Amino acid sequence: MASSVADDHLLLVQAVRDYARGELLAADRDWDREERSCCERLTQFHEMGLLGLRVPESDGGLGVPMVPYAHIIRELAYASPSVAVTVSVHSMVCEAIRMFAPPDVRDAVLKQLGTADNLAAFAISEPDAGSDPASAKTRAEPVPGGWKLSGTKMWVTNGMTGRWFVVLARTGRDRGSRDFSMFLMDARQATVERRPIHGKMGIRGSETAEMVLDAVYVPEDHLLGQPGDGLKIALSALDGGRIGIAAQAAGIGEACLDLMTAYARQRQQFQRPIADFQAIQWMLADTRTELDAAQLLIERAAALKDAGRPFTREASMAKLFASEAANRIAYRAVQVHGGYGFVHEFRVEQLYRDARITTIYEGTSEIQRHVIARELLRG
Ligand SMILES: Cc1cc2nc3c(=O)[nH]c(=O)nc-3n(C[C@H](O)[C@H](O)[C@H](O)COP(=O)(O)OP(=O)(O)OC[C@H]3O[C@@H](n4cnc5c(N)ncnc54)[C@H](O)[C@@H]3O)c2cc1C
Repeated sequence: MASSVADDHLLLVQAVRDYARGELLAADRDWDREERSCCERLTQFHEMGLLGLRVPESDGGLGVPMVPYAHIIRELAYASPSVAVTVSVHSMVCEAIRMFAPPDVRDAVLKQLGTADNLAAFAISEPDAGSDPASAKTRAEPVPGGWKLSGTKMWVTNGMTGRWFVVLARTGRDRGSRDFSMFLMDARQATVERRPIHGKMGIRGSETAEMVLDAVYVPEDHLLGQPGDGLKIALSALDGGRIGIAAQAAGIGEACLDLMTAYARQRQQFQRPIADFQAIQWMLADTRTELDAAQLLIERAAALKDAGRPFTREASMAKLFASEAANRIAYRAVQVHGGYGFVHEFRVEQLYRDARITTIYEGTSEIQRHVIARELLRG
């Protein structure tokens, strides 16, 4: 583990590691098989402090800096990629509220976010708006005392159990960068309809929902930033979120490496362990090298964020590399297991499916390359 993590945070990372491997590993297999939400453990997550990782200590959270936070997400993902993304999205939203909500709302809501009944979610995507959020159709109309939001949001992680939703909605008439605003919506209203999205390839313990908003009321002071700041806030939140997804990918890769190493030592063919064959050794060597490279990219991006310095390009690089590496690694993990890797009984089969989403959400690999190139060409 990196020496850049302070001792008290190392203890926390270790505690999460023990908890994840002791409590979540087996549960995650059940969530995957039965497509059941890991949010059934929210009270436990609260007790472990996982819901307050990015909530300041003054608001009752743990105020964990980004570098140890990324280690924690990686440890969660090692045992349960579903729990890792649940916590990562919640934490990203905690941070958006901390940074952009008016002081009174910020103080009131942040204090609640570390508790089990106040899971947070991020609702940008729509049926026809994914990589291009400026094609979002959800509208916010001004009404006395606030706004009414109408439209359909798609693919919302934590969407079934969540309470606090950061929602991107159109307040202007065009597709310009100032035509969208960001709202903090309390989803406990009858005008919010949530529909679970079932049949996912992986992270089947993570909730994904479609949400229909039928004139949902949001008070005036629950606007984040200024009217017209919506896209800016969305992209700023995603910069931090991408470090979390990179860490999730790294955790999946670490689990794959441990499983394939153990299997290669124990599986005998041609009267010797398959670990004796150079072809297998090279897969292990490439995997360790890629995981260390991913970890260094993640820590660099996280350290820049902790230092308050620009980190957009570095976060995209970490996410691009770690997520693509996780998919290569999961492929190798199945390969090392041979036919056994192809059946559910062996966990690498699940990890292969779980790894797939990491190159898609919070910006596809193509979009990460676009961000990296844009930052480079900016000069
Ligand atoms: C399980 C899951 C959870 C999710 N959680 C959330 C969430 O909590 N909140 C939320 O708002 N969204 C969430 N999403 C949505 C996710 O962020 C989008 O799926 C993703 O951004 C891609 O959008 P899309 O699916 O509409 O694909 P599209 O944007 O339609 O892309 C299709 C393909 O075209 C490529 N493409 C698009 N534009 C370009 C371009 N300019 N250059 C090159 N290639 C391009 C893409 O890379 C991709 O390969 C989630 C999705 C899933 C599957």
